[in-house]
Amino acid sequence: MEIVSYFLETWSSFYQDPWFWQFPMTTLAISASIFLLFALPWTLIAWKDPESLRKYKIQDKAFELDKFFWPSIGRMLINNLILVALLIVSWPIIKLSGVHNGELPVWYIIVAQIIFFIFMDDFLYYWMHRWFHENKFLLKHVHSVHHRIRNTCGINGNYMHWIEFSATATLMLLGPMLIGAHLYVVWIWVVIRQFEAVDGHAGYDIPWNPAHWLPLYEGPVYHDFHHAKFKGNYAGFLPYLDRFMGNTYVKEYLTYLKGKRLGLKPLEVAKGIKAKQTFEG
Ligand SMILES: [Zn+2]
Ligand SMILES: [Zn+2]
Repeated sequence: MEIVSYFLETWSSFYQDPWFWQFPMTTLAISASIFLLFALPWTLIAWKDPESLRKYKIQDKAFELDKFFWPSIGRMLINNLILVALLIVSWPIIKLSGVHNGELPVWYIIVAQIIFFIFMDDFLYYWMHRWFHENKFLLKHVHSVHHRIRNTCGINGNYMHWIEFSATATLMLLGPMLIGAHLYVVWIWVVIRQFEAVDGHAGYDIPWNPAHWLPLYEGPVYHDFHHAKFKGNYAGFLPYLDRFMGNTYVKEYLTYLKGKRLGLKPLEVAKGIKAKQTFEG
């Protein structure tokens, strides 16, 4: 009985608890604002569709902004509101985690923790995403929402069913809660995670995209092929997982990488793939 009254008490006074505002609520506010900050410039580029960048477009077709810009904003708002409700309900449990705002660890511990979050989140995301595709019910009623968009741009990164959005947010928080990270480290991680969500949907494979400096990451092209071809490329960020989990790559994605190594521009490869031309090398 004591545990029940503990939970009821913690739950009913969540709004008086400063830690509730600092940890879940501020983290959510940072997450949503950073998403927009990263997503809007890419969306503007996709909307303008400038001639000079057309050769870097991954898919040889128009972006679906007319149809999906406002729905993307709407979904983002609703998904974040539902997440607020879920965070309130699960606050007594979240509160028990070791996430804190005490002393910051030294910088190399922070770096190690962030790397751990990136790999763990991506690994779990890979399996969740594959499950979304392999389970017929989830595919039809949940994940199909995100797949309505075939040629994505930045703002589409949060266009998904609220169940998928909440599950993705839970995976993101799992690492920090598991090791009891410092709140600032959680915030750095959230910024990186939203960068991942936006970059994967950017729609352009621009050589000077700073994301190309990141080891193991191939840029927006990896997730773009998931939207274009629907099956394969299941990780959120790091393509190595498809190789080790039973070679689940999208075939055309591998062809694309070959073409790129030959020095072709994204659109040239896209046209080549359409024409079923292979790029040996
Ligand atoms: Zn999918
Ligand atoms: Zn996507």
